[in-house]
Amino acid sequence: MSTSSATNPLQPIRRDRPVGRYAPSPTGELHLGNLRTALLAWQSIRRQGGIFILRIEDIDRPRTVPGAEARMIEDLRWLGLDWDEGPDIGGPAAPYRQSERDDIYSAALKRLTAAGLTYPCICSRKELRGIASAPHGPDGPVYAGRCRGRDPRELAAHPAGASLRFLVEREPLIQFVDRRLGHQHYDLMQMSGDFIVRRRDGQWAYQLACAVDDGLMGVSEVIRGGDLLDSTPRQLAVLRALELPEPVYEHLELVVDEAGQRMCKRDGSVSIGAIRQTGMTPAAARELIMSQPVKHH
Ligand code: GLU
Repeated sequence: MSTSSATNPLQPIRRDRPVGRYAPSPTGELHLGNLRTALLAWQSIRRQGGIFILRIEDIDRPRTVPGAEARMIEDLRWLGLDWDEGPDIGGPAAPYRQSERDDIYSAALKRLTAAGLTYPCICSRKELRGIASAPHGPDGPVYAGRCRGRDPRELAAHPAGASLRFLVEREPLIQFVDRRLGHQHYDLMQMSGDFIVRRRDGQWAYQLACAVDDGLMGVSEVIRGGDLLDSTPRQLAVLRALELPEPVYEHLELVVDEAGQRMCKRDGSVSIGAIRQTGMTPAAARELIMSQPVKHH
């Protein structure tokens, strides 16, 4: 147990072995794509004799489904996965549920703000979508910094409150080496612009929570779906600004259905529940998961 983390919530856990994680959002049942990611992340760490973490990414409360976390834990165990740290067993970097890490994200935000790297924004999504000239990035219009330097009185008077954005201008160029895809190079000014770290309703943004957690939990390898490749430069920007250790990233191919469409949790036909209902053994399920067609990113 790290004693320093009690005094400084932004002190990363010291690790002497590789650390991996699986970080599902409890918004429904796990599907074949999620399970492939979980298996590959787990196998990689087990091969290296490292530490595997289960982290529940439940900051998006309206999308969190009651009971989904317990179900995921039961399904992952049935499949044969185990973890050394997680919400059900605790560990040195607890809590392992994002909904319980408010104080930690607040401390991170405070540090970013003290470094002059955040600012409040009162632009609504509708307003931003209405700017016809705004270039589009992977997650919508690129934010051109409309609220940078806005009068604090104007912000304070805004009835709907303000979100907080991370200022990318100082270090917009992000490079990293993806273990599967090789060298990656992004310009955040073109990709997202200043991105949201806390929404106006107070909800933490995934980019902030995930980066802070990976850094503080001492995660050394992040193996996840290729759909999150676009998030990595934003998460690295946060990690670098907070001077937290950076994991190595590996973004996987996406599992597709027969029609070549990406799987999503809403599609019940490929859920773990459906697999279990067939009476298949865990070993057969693992084989099925690993033999799914994938689309190269
Ligand atoms: N919670 C995210 C999801 O379920 C994954 C985040 C990550 O692996 O970084 O899609």
